[in-house]
Amino acid sequence: MSNLPACPACAADYTYEDGSQLVCPSCGHEWNPTDATAEPAAKVWKDAHGNLLQDGDSVTLIKDLKIKGSSSVIKVGTKVKNIRLIEGDHDIDCKIDGFGPMQLKSEFIKKA
Ligand SMILES: [Zn+2]
Repeated sequence: MSNLPACPACAADYTYEDGSQLVCPSCGHEWNPTDATAEPAAKVWKDAHGNLLQDGDSVTLIKDLKIKGSSSVIKVGTKVKNIRLIEGDHDIDCKIDGFGPMQLKSEFIKKA
């Protein structure tokens, strides 16, 4: 196995597996690979109340949102259907009737 991680203690690349542990013969460090190599937790999207959001959810705005570059405001209580979760500062991609494609922040919406 050549895809074992390098030793987190001394960075030597001679790691071998010993049962469920990984061992570095260079410095003797032993560690549990589920700690060192675990995938980062999947990002979860939550609305303003902590409810989990999913692609396709319908949500409601809990705050008036000014549209950049225009004087229009999307009013609190506006319903948004079929959201799409995206990475980024604005983490919700959606289309709002009468306004068109829009990106929102999950902290300003609640699940409908
Ligand atoms: Zn080591």
